[in-house]
Amino acid sequence: MFNKYELTQAIKDKARQLGFTLAGVTSFAPPAHFDIFETWLAAKHHATMEYLASERSRLRRADPSLILPEGKSILVLALPYDRQAEGGMQKAEFKVAAYALGNDYHEVILPKLKEIVQFIEEQVGHPVPSRYYTDTGPILERELAQRAGLGWIGKNSMLIHPTAGSTFLLAEILLGIEMEFDEPFQTDHCGTCTRCIEACPTQCILPNRTINSNLCISYLTIENKGGIPEPLRPLIQNWIFGCDICQQVCPWNRFAPPANPALEPAIPLPILTDDLTLTSPQFNQRFKHSPIQRAKRRGYLRNLATAVGNTGSACDIPILEQAAQDEPLIREHAVWAIQNIKEKQKRL
Ligand code: SF4
Ligand code: SF4
Repeated sequence: MFNKYELTQAIKDKARQLGFTLAGVTSFAPPAHFDIFETWLAAKHHATMEYLASERSRLRRADPSLILPEGKSILVLALPYDRQAEGGMQKAEFKVAAYALGNDYHEVILPKLKEIVQFIEEQVGHPVPSRYYTDTGPILERELAQRAGLGWIGKNSMLIHPTAGSTFLLAEILLGIEMEFDEPFQTDHCGTCTRCIEACPTQCILPNRTINSNLCISYLTIENKGGIPEPLRPLIQNWIFGCDICQQVCPWNRFAPPANPALEPAIPLPILTDDLTLTSPQFNQRFKHSPIQRAKRRGYLRNLATAVGNTGSACDIPILEQAAQDEPLIREHAVWAIQNIKEKQKRL
């Protein structure tokens, strides 16, 4: 029979065996900085992500015990993705956020979380009330991760660990068993650095370590289902799904560990302008197990048309003209891209 300390160590060992490089435990106490989230919502910095502002979602974020009333411990985990992929993609014509080059992390991480819960139930010999999430639950995961000792919330709003950097995906298991809590991570290692703030092309990093999603390239190219505001299109450069700039420039990512093999790049590369003619079945086939599915074909082609408009030349105009025959959202961005290329040529 395990005592609480031994059980916690056994669970963390199991998580490490499954590839989680960081593991920490915190309580169900309400997050101390919930007010920052409320201020962010009040300022409409969540843009069109209304699911974040619903009464149900806000109450749960304010008090995790509403998700699992029997909850006693929250296990917070981190699985690294391929930081090197950023470098590889930088040489490519179009850029995709590094985490999205691998298989869909939900497909990779959720079965691992399920396996950990099964392991815990085997150890204690009875069913354990639990909920588990990776970016899918109504919880303030970065604050819980800081409280579980996994790192500090950097000026770029990411959770950063002194040796693991920030190129990992967080996951949480809420559990109805007593575990040994970790000490919160107390220090802020950003110091006087402002690299991320200076490098952000749309200047959307706010002084309170949150992001104005309305301007963030990650939001604009993934969660945003409508058009990309015209003044922001040139700032998106050649990012076609997400953006890593504020992590690429962060000095704490220099020594980040290698990716978990399940999250190594999996989509066919490089991405070419030819993707502007992808049909729906072709898009679904190409990105079947990829996070890029989230943008859907219309969002992906909108992003690609914008990027081609920013970086393309006269030889891209015929394929943009084909895209301009597509549905209104894609058409609008393809027409903008054609005009942008023509105007650039006039200035040459
Ligand atoms: S993801 Fe890109 S646009 Fe968003 S805050 Fe970071 S650097 Fe700025
Ligand atoms: S780039 Fe500098 S300021 Fe920004 S998160 Fe990293 S250490 Fe902090």
